[in-house]
Amino acid sequence: MTNKDKQYALDLRYLRMARIWAENSYCKRRQVGALVVKGNTIISDGYNGTPSGFKNICEDDNNITHPYVLHAEANAITKLARSSNNSDGATLYVTDSPCIECAKLIIQAGIKRVVYSRNYRLEDGLNLLRKAEIEVIYLNPDDNESE
Ligand SMILES: [Zn+2]
Repeated sequence: MTNKDKQYALDLRYLRMARIWAENSYCKRRQVGALVVKGNTIISDGYNGTPSGFKNICEDDNNITHPYVLHAEANAITKLARSSNNSDGATLYVTDSPCIECAKLIIQAGIKRVVYSRNYRLEDGLNLLRKAEIEVIYLNPDDNESE
């Protein structure tokens, strides 16, 4: 196995873990999971949901997501702000492509690679990441069941 193959296999594995992590989300419309990995160690994790101390309900009566719901990436990055670790040079694994608000956080957090598995309707987040010279990789674990 070349280093490239090894990285690919690891990327798929972490992405599958992010997908499993998304199952923690109590949001009904969409469940998103994120992992921050540095030096082959998971240093943070997140899923979309309300801030600490808020009721675990993401949607209002009309099935519209509350504006105070945090995205998985934002939860993973802000969790690091309360830890002794940091995301400088890390890789973010996320089930869905980041939105523009999360893309800004990813850039400022010093994350260097983003691996995701599902495209969001808007591409502006991905474009911003690319502009910041962050490596953006799309992988679909379902295409690689034998891996
Ligand atoms: Zn977002």
